[in-house]
Amino acid sequence: MEEIAYVNGSFVPIAEAKVSILDRGFLFADGIYEVAAVLEGKLIDNASHLARLERSVGEIALPLPETTERIEQIQKELVARNHLVNGMVYLEVTRGADSGRDFAFPKGDVRPTLVMFTSVKDIVNAPSAKTGIGVITVPDIRWTRRDIKSVALLAQVLAKQAAAEAGAGEAWMIEDGLVTEGGSSSCFILTRDDVLVTRQNGSAILPGCTRKAVVRLAEERQLRVEERPFSVEEALAAREVFITSATVFVQAVVTIDGKTVANGKPGPMTDRLREIYVDFARATAV
Ligand code: PLP
Repeated sequence: MEEIAYVNGSFVPIAEAKVSILDRGFLFADGIYEVAAVLEGKLIDNASHLARLERSVGEIALPLPETTERIEQIQKELVARNHLVNGMVYLEVTRGADSGRDFAFPKGDVRPTLVMFTSVKDIVNAPSAKTGIGVITVPDIRWTRRDIKSVALLAQVLAKQAAAEAGAGEAWMIEDGLVTEGGSSSCFILTRDDVLVTRQNGSAILPGCTRKAVVRLAEERQLRVEERPFSVEEALAAREVFITSATVFVQAVVTIDGKTVANGKPGPMTDRLREIYVDFARATAV
């Protein structure tokens, strides 16, 4: 079966899904993206992703070409057309294709580009959920508006390539001796006195939708949560370490730069928070 993508109002086979070489997403990375996981054919926590999309486009004065209600309809139609059971829907909106390569915004009536595609991933039963992953650390060389989910991802491409070459599952980015976040994930530790610590939102990190849900679910269960930065040394001394993202949910980290965290196995709190998150995901999927 040929995979279907969405491009500016049309559902087309992926091989025919094309945008102009003058598209500002291509020329300047002048665009925003979102990734929502699909579990058993339904979108997880999509309201949170669409709220972040609206915030991101607002921060760069990019009007959405469709309402978020319509965007959700398109996401659902794409899931249905591709018979997607488990995986994700990627969506990207850019400032469109102008007639040349002017850095300033287009002056004429240039319609933003909106594209979406899906991909299959066994998000619940990924083997790494059982074994945990290793992470490496790299300097955080990104711009200072990381709260905007911009398609300018070169720093993360290089960080995650370094991780792949080292046989690690994620790269943690470090600034001023403290962990900002993963290449495509938020970072958490559980301290020896059972406090869940994750860096506070702000311009240094992307406000993760999964991070937000996990913090709320943990607090509802009377777990103490502290939103503050932490160092790699603190993570190595922690009881448990994990990352969160839309497509890995809650994923244990068992080594950092080759050094073992705790006993080198996913911890019980990480496993429990993963189960709680999966239950939340199922209960709220649309
Ligand atoms: N931080 C960065 C830099 C990311 O790219 C992502 C997701 O891709 C996250 C955090 C996790 O965000 P979410 O939980 O919304 O997927």
